[in-house]
Amino acid sequence: MDLFLWVFIAFVVIGLVTNVITSDLKDRNKHILCRLGIHRYKHVDWEEKSPGAIYKCEKCGKTKRVIRGM
Ligand SMILES: [Zn+2]
Repeated sequence: MDLFLWVFIAFVVIGLVTNVITSDLKDRNKHILCRLGIHRYKHVDWEEKSPGAIYKCEKCGKTKRVIRGM
């Protein structure tokens, strides 16, 4: 009977660990790409003086300026 008990405990532990890992991935999914330097930029504004556009990442709020080539 001890074996069944340990198997049961193992399944419970595996289930909990899997749950924690997957939920953790879901929570960090928004930022994991940003951490890799892959941002989802969205155009938010134009620069006043130079012919450039201002983009802002939807996920982390990082902004970047893109200068248009002539
Ligand atoms: Zn970002």
